[in-house]
Amino acid sequence: MSKNSPERDGPAIEARGLVKVYGGNRALDGIDLTVQRGQVFGLLGPNGAGKTTAVRVLATLTRPDRGTARVLGHDVIRARDAIRARVAVTGQFAALDADLTGYENLSVLGRLHGLSRAAVRRRADDLLTAFDLTGAAARPVGGYSGGMRRRLDIAASLIVTPDLLFLDEPTTGLDPRGRGRVWELVRRIAAAGTTVLLTTQYLDEADQLAGRIAVIDRGRVVAEGTSAQLKSRVGSGTLHVRLLDGAARPRARQVLADTLDGTVRLAADPLALSVPLTAPTDATDVARRIGHAMIRLADARVPVAEVTLGHPSLDEAFLALTAHKTAPTTEQAGRRAAGSALGHTDGSVRGRTTGREVAPATADEEDNA
Ligand code: ATP
Repeated sequence: MSKNSPERDGPAIEARGLVKVYGGNRALDGIDLTVQRGQVFGLLGPNGAGKTTAVRVLATLTRPDRGTARVLGHDVIRARDAIRARVAVTGQFAALDADLTGYENLSVLGRLHGLSRAAVRRRADDLLTAFDLTGAAARPVGGYSGGMRRRLDIAASLIVTPDLLFLDEPTTGLDPRGRGRVWELVRRIAAAGTTVLLTTQYLDEADQLAGRIAVIDRGRVVAEGTSAQLKSRVGSGTLHVRLLDGAARPRARQVLADTLDGTVRLAADPLALSVPLTAPTDATDVARRIGHAMIRLADARVPVAEVTLGHPSLDEAFLALTAHKTAPTTEQAGRRAAGSALGHTDGSVRGRTTGREVAPATADEEDNA
């Protein structure tokens, strides 16, 4: 390998115009992606957006119908073996044997990867400790909880440290504590130098973990950038104003409507109003506009107790980026309504209602090499 070879120094993933059609359904409809090495890259999208299909193409488990992709410098069609030797895919629950213990599962996988018995023992012990499974190591996996299986599944994908790890919806169905533990593991994996492609429907998960995010919808990338960039695309946030005197609220509402370009919302709290600042503005413009609004409130003798500018959540960004481009399915619309009803307490659109686990990633399912 030359000193500056794409296998070692180029992007971890470089995909152009990927198309994958199932029957009449374009699961991927021209996806472009570039993932730099060492990044945690988030692929964020609703049910059926094409996330798993993208992972399957990039992990060489299925062939694209059109387009090109290089993974760790290798072509996904011509160099499957070279890619498979250096990547790992989670979600391979089929690879876990429910009758074997956690330790035995890791041990079998390690031996399959050609590790010596001693190396397997060391690696399995390290992974079981890191994934907080030492206490359960001698128990059959069939008796594990969903969260424990998920952690063992990720541990199994790390039996040999991959250069690139595909984490396909790693926290779906986990409780908040389980999600937090998986997040911590992902951070550690990334810190140790493995590039991670993370697919998720959870906005807060992408926000927490991913340095860059591509939002995909109906097989296309509809937006890409850092979490902050995606948020800034939908505006500068929402101005919240709390008054000292509820009687002044009609006056405040009029002033804010006159001075700020946004719909003034009256909160359930009779002292509170809010205005989403949706026009594209830079930070100084926001400050100028808010300053102007505050002066006008003072001129109108509106007594103000508190003024805050909240950043838009990634949730708001996601809905803005995808909602107008797709007519939501009943299920999606229901989820969004549920998210609103919950007040987006954690910034996420909840619920993978299908309950489907990530498909076992076997190359034999289709397009076998
Ligand atoms: P989810 O979050 O629900 O897992 P996703 O973003 O991972 O969704 P995919 O699983 O990639 O989406 O599916 C994209 C589209 O392709 C969906 O409409 C799905 O029904 C379809 N699809 C995926 N795999 C197959 C297949 N093997 N055969 C037929 N259709 C498929």
